[in-house]
Amino acid sequence: MNAMPATLTDVANEAQIVVRNPATQELIGAVPRFTAEQVTAAVTRAAAAQSRWTATSMLTRLRIFKRFGELLCQQKDAVAAVISREAGKPEAEALSTEILVVLDTAKFLRDYTPGFLFPEPVPHSNPAMKLKRGTLLRQPYGVVGIISPWNYPFSVPSVQTLSALVTGNAVVLKPSEFTPFSSLEMQRLLREAGLDPDLLQVITGEGATGAALLQADIHKVVFTGSVATGKRVAQAAAARLLPVVLELGGKDPMLVLEDADVDVASSAAVWGAFMNAGQTCLSVERCYVHQSIYEKFLAACVEKTNKLRLGRGTDANVDVGPMIHERQLRTVQEHVQDAISRGARLLTGGTVLAELGSNFFAPTILADVTHSMTVMREETFGPVLPVRSFKTEDEAVELANDSEFGLAASIFTQDKQRGEALARRIDAGTVMVNDVLACFGISEAPHGGVKASGIGRTHGRFGLEEMVWPKYVDSDLMPRMKKLWWYGYDPAFARQMSGFVDFLFARNLINRVQGGLKSTQSYLRRKLL
Ligand code: NAD
Repeated sequence: MNAMPATLTDVANEAQIVVRNPATQELIGAVPRFTAEQVTAAVTRAAAAQSRWTATSMLTRLRIFKRFGELLCQQKDAVAAVISREAGKPEAEALSTEILVVLDTAKFLRDYTPGFLFPEPVPHSNPAMKLKRGTLLRQPYGVVGIISPWNYPFSVPSVQTLSALVTGNAVVLKPSEFTPFSSLEMQRLLREAGLDPDLLQVITGEGATGAALLQADIHKVVFTGSVATGKRVAQAAAARLLPVVLELGGKDPMLVLEDADVDVASSAAVWGAFMNAGQTCLSVERCYVHQSIYEKFLAACVEKTNKLRLGRGTDANVDVGPMIHERQLRTVQEHVQDAISRGARLLTGGTVLAELGSNFFAPTILADVTHSMTVMREETFGPVLPVRSFKTEDEAVELANDSEFGLAASIFTQDKQRGEALARRIDAGTVMVNDVLACFGISEAPHGGVKASGIGRTHGRFGLEEMVWPKYVDSDLMPRMKKLWWYGYDPAFARQMSGFVDFLFARNLINRVQGGLKSTQSYLRRKLL
């Protein structure tokens, strides 16, 4: 990391980006603003390294991953401090939602990838092809471009980077301009663990650097961020047919059924809505509660919210930190104001807490919200819990699905079967029964959304599949035999084919037997070219 600069003028110049602590505006450091030429050069270096990497044994790759895990575990507190300082979140959250996730992923990849990359036989049933043996190979793309957001500045890029590397790719990573040091920490640890330095290049910069990466000679892009930027990335990728994964925003609903434990569900709602100051793609952004427990649930949420301690993430006694920047704070304020002006009840919060420092917004609970309010339609991405009641399960499902997003959802009920049945009816990439957010910590669980929440998956087996392209290798067991379907077409061939189709698919047995005979007789008369 660069040495701490004394003032902004010490670091601000055309070629650098200044990074500040969102809680205090204290200068953390500066990173280079990569130009398009530097991005191209980084991709070229990565491509050369990738050729070396594919020749490296799986054992060597896994040894590096193991060492990376050991180093991260040893240095977890220092890394958590870096994350907390630039993202504003409590260090406890940096440990639980970032470092723990990455360590578990590194372990999962070590255990799972050798089998995943092993050539997979593809059995088939077509009798005409019985003399062929098929094998599926999973080939690395080459250079994978990764573009990351600021809200999980360590876990999001690390999980994706490790998945790309272990499958044989090189990575060029563009972290968020607000939180580049977390990615640089990951890069440092991987290099210390023995990774070829050119295999993972972190290119710091703003949107223009990300846009330059999309024009460089990468072979796949994995983008995580807002829907608006995701659409721009998808358009740039489409123009050159670059395969793309898009992990975008969410407006995740939480359903609390009448048989739910109100104490448990209210604690989940408060944590799910306010963790990382609500700046989580999987945050509880909408809450629907059965009318029979609605007021009781609201009272419990307000009581618990009023106990939360706000402050700097580096203070161990803090529950909720600041928003990342003022623009985010203004969006939250606008959503809350819009809801109140349209008749929502403000139960707690709703104010900027300037006395705590920059960008602090009080955890806010709104009741009696409706879907005409912005807070129920657009991603708020802040510490706001909007709640409304429902009468029937059908109404709850309809409300949950009435959104352009479909990242995740949660259902609270004491009846597991009922929760799982309801989960099937909700349009979301992940549905949790009796928990919120936590699936992100399960390395085997695929992460990603439907509708405007994105395309493709990260994490787990599906995340690994995104890092490889399937190659089907077909071997014929009779190299000295001409194939029946080759040239030499004549009426006999047509009869043969007609008979063969009947043999395989005719409805009744007699037709199938006749078809079989017809195809054999024709074959005996036929001359192949
Ligand atoms: P953002 O879209 O503003 O930025 C994301 C990244 O894209 C940054 O690195 C940015 O510099 C880069 N970028 C900006 N313009 C670009 C361009 N034209 N071409 C290429 N790259 C460009 O998002 P953000 O504010 O950093 O992150 C918050 C958003 O991310 C929220 O919507 C949140 O829901 C979403 N998110 C989604 C997931 C998920 O897994 N689905 C996870 C975390 C965050």
